[in-house]
Amino acid sequence: MLQLNPNITAIEEETAFTVLDRANALKAQGKPVINLGIGQPDFTPPRHILEAAEKAVRDGPHGYSSPAGLAILRDAVAQYVGRRFKAPVVAEEVVIVPGGKVTFFFACHLFGGPGAEILYPDPGFPPYRDAIRSSGARAVPYPIREQKSFGFDAEEVLSLVTPKTRLIIINSPANPTGGVVEPKEFRKFAEGIEKHPNVAILSDEIYSHLVYEGAGFTSFFEFPELRDRAIMLDGWSKTFAMTGWRLGFGIWPRNLVEMVKKMITVDHSCTSVATQMAGLAAITGPMDEIEGFRRGFEKRRNIVVDGLNALPGVTCRKPGGAFYAFPNIKGTGRPSRELARDLLEKAYVALIHGESFGANGEGYLRLSYAASEADIREALKRMRDFLS
Ligand code: PLP
Repeated sequence: MLQLNPNITAIEEETAFTVLDRANALKAQGKPVINLGIGQPDFTPPRHILEAAEKAVRDGPHGYSSPAGLAILRDAVAQYVGRRFKAPVVAEEVVIVPGGKVTFFFACHLFGGPGAEILYPDPGFPPYRDAIRSSGARAVPYPIREQKSFGFDAEEVLSLVTPKTRLIIINSPANPTGGVVEPKEFRKFAEGIEKHPNVAILSDEIYSHLVYEGAGFTSFFEFPELRDRAIMLDGWSKTFAMTGWRLGFGIWPRNLVEMVKKMITVDHSCTSVATQMAGLAAITGPMDEIEGFRRGFEKRRNIVVDGLNALPGVTCRKPGGAFYAFPNIKGTGRPSRELARDLLEKAYVALIHGESFGANGEGYLRLSYAASEADIREALKRMRDFLS
């Protein structure tokens, strides 16, 4: 009998990818599937990024880079982040990785392990829970509530800290709710966490470019007193429509970078160098198309939210960021898993059931509005027909 590591067998599937496979299988059978399941922009990356990638593939560099990334890219990321948040960031704090996920995976393994506890949002991005579990640590959910506009309650999060807590994961703007944590809650959190100097913070800011009118985004960089124990996660996937390129970065406390580099050498040596060159073009080039993406998402958000609120048994708050709507479907009287399954199998609308994001997600669905306006309108029509 093969003996598997129980920390690894505890990993659950990420529903967005299961739904993607099923949606593609139905499409292959000729069914008119509209996919509002997976969270990825439907735009093409700007031309200058594609050209930089082509050039890098042709002309190099072709060898390994430092495990932490090309020096030129680390430096550019430090300037890009420093400029955005008016914070002193240096290249030595930047670690380039293949995708946004890698930064939190490494953070969970660095701070986790048997006996440790790591706090994460529920509903939240499911791989947080599984990255924590795979390290052997206990995954402790903290609630994200609709009444709080899907932000967090700082006091509630802090009340869950125990002597075993090693890391707290925060995500704003958030997947799956689109919630943006209010600046005053962030401030309360930053003040409260001072009492727990041994706890690190991972701030997942991968949607920070996708913030809409009326929502005030706060970055962890606005709290310099936490810099020595905060890791900031961002990347190219959502901002530059580059999910398939696998490129992300973390800004780490400087004294942890050597440790992270060692983990990288064990795991993947370095991030694809051609992709890094494309990433360099992205963050040093013009940002007007990126702002165009944001405006496009904001328009679609309004269409989705209005459409959802017109469905029987459904209410939906206007999300402040990211590209997800998280409608409350409690009025339909149907469990979220069942409703999502029926909408895919019978109405050919792929979306994700809320409970897959944690127990507090029951009674909700997640729709990604990173789809064309025509697809969004057709999906809403099919949902209306199905629910009526
Ligand atoms: N963090 C959050 C909150 C996400 O929603 C995602 C992707 O959906 C990621 C990180 C991972 O991004 P990447 O595809 O760059 O690994």
